[in-house]
Amino acid sequence: MKKRILVTGGGGFLGSHLCETLVGQEHDVLCLDNFFTGDKQNIYHLMGNPRFELIRHDVTFPVYLEVDQIYNLACPASPIHYQRDPVQTTKTSVHGAINMLGLAKRVKAQILQASTSEVYGDPEVHPQVEEYWGNVNPIGIRSCYDEGKRCAETLFFDYHRQNQVRIKVIRIFNTYGPRMHPNDGRVVSNFIVQALRGKDITIFGDGNQTRSFCYVDDLIRGMIAMMNTPDSVIGPINLGNPAETTILEAAQLIIELTGAKSKLVSRPLPQDDPVRRRPCIDRAKAVLSWEPRVPFRDGLQKTIAYFDDYLTRHPHVEA
Ligand code: NAD
Ligand code: UDP
Repeated sequence: MKKRILVTGGGGFLGSHLCETLVGQEHDVLCLDNFFTGDKQNIYHLMGNPRFELIRHDVTFPVYLEVDQIYNLACPASPIHYQRDPVQTTKTSVHGAINMLGLAKRVKAQILQASTSEVYGDPEVHPQVEEYWGNVNPIGIRSCYDEGKRCAETLFFDYHRQNQVRIKVIRIFNTYGPRMHPNDGRVVSNFIVQALRGKDITIFGDGNQTRSFCYVDDLIRGMIAMMNTPDSVIGPINLGNPAETTILEAAQLIIELTGAKSKLVSRPLPQDDPVRRRPCIDRAKAVLSWEPRVPFRDGLQKTIAYFDDYLTRHPHVEA
């Protein structure tokens, strides 16, 4: 059935893919973004579509709309961006959650929160299961993001218990793909841009830290599946690819796939950088019948093709 769907952060990497899929499913999509990290180019192709509407707005301020579903994605996601204005990052997560939950309560909409594997911090439990409460530094440079997202989860569950708001919470693990910001410092986009420009590949620390990378199409499929579960399913549910890789292995694969001559160079490991990260996705498998389908190598090839084209059109962009 056709719905009116609000996507906050709809001009960003994940948000633009979500808007595109929802418009393709013939829903009416309201894309709300203040373009702090998003880019209108991500959604240019949707702008002429009568089912798509763009609202320039900051989620830290209330907004009055009539919608059936809300996907709350507004928040800078890469460490460079969320650390640029850490107070605004926390406000976006916390005030943004309050405003969107208030809206969901008023119009009785379903609301999905794009939470993160960062709620587990530097995890002592591996792989990360949803029952794990995490190991988060409350006063470090990543805290504005981690604690902001943790507080948003608290607000979601309290609005659910107190006001019966129809919540869904997903915890997203590292996701990559076309339309990642070329300068946002995340590892996949950084390495690809460095390789395509023939620059050194910057390995933070010894490169033995691990991440588990999920291709964007898989993630969006899981996100929409979660939104459309019965009201009794509230989460949290991990969404990510359990295939774990070291940062060094990721660099080597990107060098192989781009054919780059780049050297690996060592840089200091940022403070509080998690050592290991891999989702347990048993819950997503059981509840959503979801699991990733795109192997890292295939997803990287699509992402490299995207950046190859992007960098040709933007000759001054470097990582
Ligand atoms: P992104 O930076 O590309 O997108 C975030 C979007 O939110 C941008 O368009 C930005 O302009 C917008 N935004 C930021 N502050 C806002 C505000 N105050 N009001 C309105 N809009 C605002 O990042 P992304 O990778 O697409 O991440 C989307 C969501 O998913 C974020 O909430 C992020 O925390 C979450 N997430 C992403 C990943 C990942 O690997 N990509 C992992 C875990 C969680
Ligand atoms: N990283 C790296 N070189 C870079 C960018 C990132 O070695 O140029 C490392 C970073 O230290 C971290 C991992 O890659 O261990 C993933 O970093 P990203 O910022 O993509 O995501 P997050 O740390 O939030 O998972």
